[in-house]
Amino acid sequence: MHKSLNPNQDLELTWRNDKNHVIHPYANFENFSKEGSTVYAKGHRHFIYDQQGQKYLDGIAGLWCVNIGHGNEELAAHIGEQARNLAYYNTFEDSTSPSAANLAAKLASLCPGTLNHVFFGTGGSMANDTAIKMVHYYFNMLGKPKKKKILSRNLGYHGSTYLAHALTGIASTHIGFDLPKDDITYLSTPYPYRKPEGIDSHSYCDYLIDEMETKIIEIGADNIACFIAEPIMGAGGVIVAPEGYLGKAYALCKKYEILTIADEVVTAFGRLGKMITSKEMFKVQPDIMVLAKGLSSGYVPLGATVISSAMHEVISRPKADNPYFSHGFTYSGHALACATGLKNIEILERDGFCEHVNKWGPYFKEQLTTLEDLPIVGEVRGSHFMLALEYVTDKKTKTSFPMEVNIGKRIYTASKKRGLIIRPIGPLNVLSPPLTYDKDAIDETIGILKDSILETVTTLH
Ligand code: PLP
Repeated sequence: MHKSLNPNQDLELTWRNDKNHVIHPYANFENFSKEGSTVYAKGHRHFIYDQQGQKYLDGIAGLWCVNIGHGNEELAAHIGEQARNLAYYNTFEDSTSPSAANLAAKLASLCPGTLNHVFFGTGGSMANDTAIKMVHYYFNMLGKPKKKKILSRNLGYHGSTYLAHALTGIASTHIGFDLPKDDITYLSTPYPYRKPEGIDSHSYCDYLIDEMETKIIEIGADNIACFIAEPIMGAGGVIVAPEGYLGKAYALCKKYEILTIADEVVTAFGRLGKMITSKEMFKVQPDIMVLAKGLSSGYVPLGATVISSAMHEVISRPKADNPYFSHGFTYSGHALACATGLKNIEILERDGFCEHVNKWGPYFKEQLTTLEDLPIVGEVRGSHFMLALEYVTDKKTKTSFPMEVNIGKRIYTASKKRGLIIRPIGPLNVLSPPLTYDKDAIDETIGILKDSILETVTTLH
């Protein structure tokens, strides 16, 4: 099938080059071979334009990441200046750059407790891999080599490298990759909308925590290294755990000497109205914090693993067999990337993005919740600028749509036609816009979504 193309040959060539040569992440090869891609060529604040000039509201901030909005002139100028000054130098062993040093200090000041030591990479998956390698190294240094098992959660999302994909608890995505899962246990998703029959909302949290403790005892605390969790699950479906869940899970970890990893790749840098959410919003103090996405607002690839002083003290002890901490990437502490991160944080703080999200987040959720009156909208959930709609065939029984109906994708397509980009994830749509989203953008989003859902409903059966 041919996509309707602009007469301009260059546009067609770009589209064809992509179709013939790019392997897309999470590609559906069958659809792609028919339709190819939409080529996005320009962005401004929370708007994005395809190469034919069609304008869309970017309801997903690229991919949960362009927090300060597209086309920020100040950040672009800073990136240019840094590129002219020093784009790159390595940070292996005893070299650094001002931006790597100063961004690390800034992150240490933002992260709670003694999270003072930063290892840089290029994204969230790499930062999670680094976290797990550091945890293993730490327990080996402590003379506890048996502590290797990892607690993760069903529907948790932690990335796509070999190990980060294994940490990810979305079983359907594992198929065909032979991931290294032997040391990983996936706990139940803390999913209030789909809690087991017969458990009331009050006891659901304790039910999950009891289950977690039972698992810890079964595996043996001496064998468990860490617990990794997003404060609010993102790609698994914007799932908000019952109140108090994270605090109780962390308390169990403390009791059994299990390190805690907060994967704040999505939740940090303003999406929930806080720069870092673990302590301020969820009242927990992790041993390791994983950051990416909003850290650079997606302008350049950047991720960070931030560890506690206690962990750092152990992993930096002198060793006889290999005096080096033999972990590092060419682009660890990339000068241009770190300068981008620093400037991005300066803009987020100076321009009051958290205040803006705190002001408009509740309105956004309230307006989106009105869509629960529509047929097929089972639940609207999430917080601030991290929201989702889950669709069901029957609201009473909460019956999911069969996979082949592709309900999230159909509503995404209907919304896109009307000038709004949302994210389809199975039977859900996710909204995670740039933090520039204002009342007009929110109102337009709700209107488009409503029309798109209603139109899609008429096409069912
Ligand atoms: N952790 C979380 C919570 C994420 O949402 C993602 C990506 O969506 C990752 C980790 C992986 O980050 P990246 O895609 O930058 O490797």
